[in-house]
Amino acid sequence: MGYDIAIRGGTLVDGTGSTPVRADVGIENGLITAIGDLEGTARREIDADGLTVTPGFVDIHTHLDAQIGWDPDCTPVSWHGVTTALLGNCGVTFAPCHPRDKELLAGMMETVEDIPRHAILSGLPWSWEDYGGYLDAIERLRPGINVAGLVGHSAVRFYVMGERAVEEQASAVERAEMAAVVARSIDRGAAGFSTNRFAPHKLRDGRSIPGTFADAAELVEIAKVVAPRGALMQAVGADNTILRTIADAAGGRLLAAGFAVFLRAAFFAMAQLPDHG
Ligand SMILES: [Zn+2]
Repeated sequence: MGYDIAIRGGTLVDGTGSTPVRADVGIENGLITAIGDLEGTARREIDADGLTVTPGFVDIHTHLDAQIGWDPDCTPVSWHGVTTALLGNCGVTFAPCHPRDKELLAGMMETVEDIPRHAILSGLPWSWEDYGGYLDAIERLRPGINVAGLVGHSAVRFYVMGERAVEEQASAVERAEMAAVVARSIDRGAAGFSTNRFAPHKLRDGRSIPGTFADAAELVEIAKVVAPRGALMQAVGADNTILRTIADAAGGRLLAAGFAVFLRAAFFAMAQLPDHG
């Protein structure tokens, strides 16, 4: 058989929950066409002896939004088997962005995710204003893995409300405008919307980032444009009341990130480490 690629001798974990087996994988025209003992020689042979062969992992929580500019292979997640990554989590994105605001958005990512501002400003083309333009720019970088992006609440709020976005509630007109911006972002390719209510996430001047204290009504209005488009809402630092309100309002899908859960998992993992003392 004329396989384009043969991956030989790996332990196959196929993602269905079935028992791992040692098997070769044959690929033709980008599709797996054979699993088992493959005969013949493929155009490209990959020796996977001693390795695990699996479907690619999907990393649903990344902040590769800037790094992808200087590292389109998105390391190290791609080294770990991730073939699809979701950008734009936790409300912090670089679009939509008025040209005058790029320093502010880059500075926000620096304080929230500890990614140096100068690297963000020099490592991305900053050729966009809307989220679709950001996705187009990312596509031109030819990422080494599949990427999808959420449009961030903090960026949307600053785009619509300016300086008022940091500490004030939105008017009805501004809420409607934010919902329209989010709807356009999704129509131009965003996989959904993310928001951040974790008060210790600050701007460079020490104030919590835009959206941290936004009324539930604002999130509900946005949720009502996200859900009908089959898109996702993602939230970090949101309490159960807010999460329930958003979910009930529109019936859409919700990704929630919680620090308490992360910490508990981390301590559990540490407790499992062998003691080499
Ligand atoms: Zn995050």
